[in-house]
Amino acid sequence: MKSIKQIRNLAGKRILVRVDFNVPIKKGKVAEDSRLLASLPTIKYLVEKKAKVILVTHIGRPEGIDVSLKVEPIARRLGEFVKRDIKILDIKILRRYYKDISAKGGPASGWEKYFEYASKEIGKMKNGQILMLENIRFFADENKDVNGFSRKLAILGDIFVLDGFAVAHRDSGSVTGVAKHLPSYAGLLLEKEIVGLSKVLQQPKNPFIVVLGGAKMETKIPVIKNLLPKCDYLLAGGGIVNTYLKVLGYGVGDSLVDMDFKKESLIYGKKKKVIMPVDVVVGTIDGKKYRVVELQKKSHQICKKGEAILDCGPKTIQLYAKYIKQAQTLVWNGAMGYFEQKPYDVGTLSIARLVASRSKGKAYGVIGGGETLQSMEMVKMTEYVDLVSTGGGAMLEFLSGNMLPGVTAVSA
Ligand code: ADP
Ligand code: MG
Repeated sequence: MKSIKQIRNLAGKRILVRVDFNVPIKKGKVAEDSRLLASLPTIKYLVEKKAKVILVTHIGRPEGIDVSLKVEPIARRLGEFVKRDIKILDIKILRRYYKDISAKGGPASGWEKYFEYASKEIGKMKNGQILMLENIRFFADENKDVNGFSRKLAILGDIFVLDGFAVAHRDSGSVTGVAKHLPSYAGLLLEKEIVGLSKVLQQPKNPFIVVLGGAKMETKIPVIKNLLPKCDYLLAGGGIVNTYLKVLGYGVGDSLVDMDFKKESLIYGKKKKVIMPVDVVVGTIDGKKYRVVELQKKSHQICKKGEAILDCGPKTIQLYAKYIKQAQTLVWNGAMGYFEQKPYDVGTLSIARLVASRSKGKAYGVIGGGETLQSMEMVKMTEYVDLVSTGGGAMLEFLSGNMLPGVTAVSA
């Protein structure tokens, strides 16, 4: 990857920076600002070098213009962090062309007009100033990069920087498209994440322990496939476990399972390196009735209809702790249970504490995934983890062994 540190004479240059500031906004305020903080080093570096910084992000999945997904609250919050005003381009100009740029089709002239307007405003920028374009997903053409979208976006800058690791797996106009038309570089966040994750893939120190839970099997199976040859043990939790147990003939009641991955769960579940829970917490979804069930070798009824497996049990936590406490390399993604509801948070929060306690020093610890980060925040131990990935989907893609299109776009 080409780093922004390699760019000479940044002063006065217009730098288009694709960040991922897709953060939750509540009552017109940024509710969670870790992704803003994550891109601060890149932004500050460019400002210090007197570049003209043009930030590009998406928020949510709007269809056309959605006023609740404007960049304004984000620009305001970011402005507090960088201690300067961040210029935004009035939404009114977009409204004027609303019909043209709605996702329902219509000519591309809407965003073209907006870009013309942006171009004029960018022309007035002073060195070291920051401007933020409106939510790039307000323009339906961005996604598939049609009607010359990225070519025209590229006209707004001299250089393109991709910093949003969380969108690096997306092949869209503002990620890979614009890189085709401008000299392109990796921002400091993208660089940090790729360097950290590559360390895990290429030269992990042993024992290398992976903890994998969560719900979305289609994103987890490729990770197991790629990491299993590299790691020493993979501790399983969440939906993978339930599916495996069901396939083996255990009665799992209303547990979260994905029978599309029947075959895979059996293949991987049986591997020596894959460690399965020895006990589970079953109960009602509301958490009012629950109990611990120890798993027997021979299949049996774990729970009945109206109940589900919603967490791993105490013996499992104790067993997993032994592995985690030996690790030199640790990767964790995916909740161990339905941690949003008490008492099913115990397994996940225990794993969070164990992973964080072993990280920074004893092991190189990496975590990623929306819910995984959320649970680490719940135990207030995020700062103890070596690499807290800002990209769930992108991290899983990368750990699955796939080259991310965004990374390719900014590589020499
Ligand atoms: P991440 O966002 O960290 O990558 P996922 O999105 O794959 O993780 O899954 C996290 C979700 O999985 C959580 O919302 C959690 O409630 C759910 N989950 C994990 N185990 C179970 C279970 N046994 N039953 C129901 N939901 C579960
Ligand atoms: Mg998730």
